[in-house]
Amino acid sequence: MFKDIVLTLWNNEGINEKDASTLRKKSKEVPAPLDKESRKMIKTLIDSFLARDDASGLAAPQIGISKRIVVFRTKGFGEGGKVKSPDDFEVLINPRITQARGEKVTMTEGCLSCPEIQVEISRSPEIKVRALNEKGEKISKRYLDYVARVVQHELDHLDGKLIVDYEGAIYYPKKKQEFYEKLFKG
Ligand SMILES: [Zn+2]
Repeated sequence: MFKDIVLTLWNNEGINEKDASTLRKKSKEVPAPLDKESRKMIKTLIDSFLARDDASGLAAPQIGISKRIVVFRTKGFGEGGKVKSPDDFEVLINPRITQARGEKVTMTEGCLSCPEIQVEISRSPEIKVRALNEKGEKISKRYLDYVARVVQHELDHLDGKLIVDYEGAIYYPKKKQEFYEKLFKG
């Protein structure tokens, strides 16, 4: 089973209150060892991610599951299309950043839950993360550069934090300037 609809903070009419309240919630830890229900949720998130061709990563709250699970691409960025190999993505459960190193790098980011916009965000280029993998095994991993950025972005989702919460410049389509000016002032 997969969910092809990602919750969004707004739609064409304005703020999407129902989705926003789910996206803004702090997600709950997944109980370890993994039980049947958790495994099902993990699989739903992976399937939902693999069914898309427009995501670098996906966090469980984006598909309405308020649990600390994320999935993301580790290879093949910029090639577009769906993830083709199981070696090209990773799953982290109950992830925790234990170390962040290096001078922060600023880049624009988009998010499926914040449609149409991009925000400039500064993030560490090197992080260490402790988590469980999809089998429920304890892992410790180091991520660099773009993958480190994606992981930090996905982990933000677990705390209800989204790209619009950062101070950086926001870019939106010019033809919808009025809509977004109103949205971000309101
Ligand atoms: Zn996102």
